[in-house]
Amino acid sequence: MKRTRVTAKLRLYPDPILKAVCEPVGDDEDVSGIIRDMMHILTNSKTGVGLAAPQAGHTKRVIIVAQAGFYTIMINPVLLDFSDIKAAREEWCLSYPGRSKTILRPTEVIVGYRLQNGLKDQRRMFDFQARIALHEIDHLDGKCKVGE
Ligand SMILES: [Zn+2]
Repeated sequence: MKRTRVTAKLRLYPDPILKAVCEPVGDDEDVSGIIRDMMHILTNSKTGVGLAAPQAGHTKRVIIVAQAGFYTIMINPVLLDFSDIKAAREEWCLSYPGRSKTILRPTEVIVGYRLQNGLKDQRRMFDFQARIALHEIDHLDGKCKVGE
């Protein structure tokens, strides 16, 4: 088997792809290449805790939430519910190096998404993990509060 070398590069501000509204992934669409590129960038970054597809050069609705060495891949993520309780915390973004911003976000969310095998799933996320998911979902709509 020929080994494919991953050459995906992290997209940095002011790359216009960071402003793109990403398209939903189709039911039969294979996004394994996109996920491979994203994992390559995320696992090679020292500080990244999440990544959205446009940061890897793809305008598809795919995010990865990383925490404690575990990676949750979410295809077509949708915010289903969120808490009224919010917290303000400092955030960073790999695509906006050197910047940070204190952002108010719900402390608890439920995110619906598709798995790589096509099945639907949802996850209740708290605190830092909820914040990562919300940050990455923003990217899919061409937004990043850290960079605004
Ligand atoms: Zn970001």
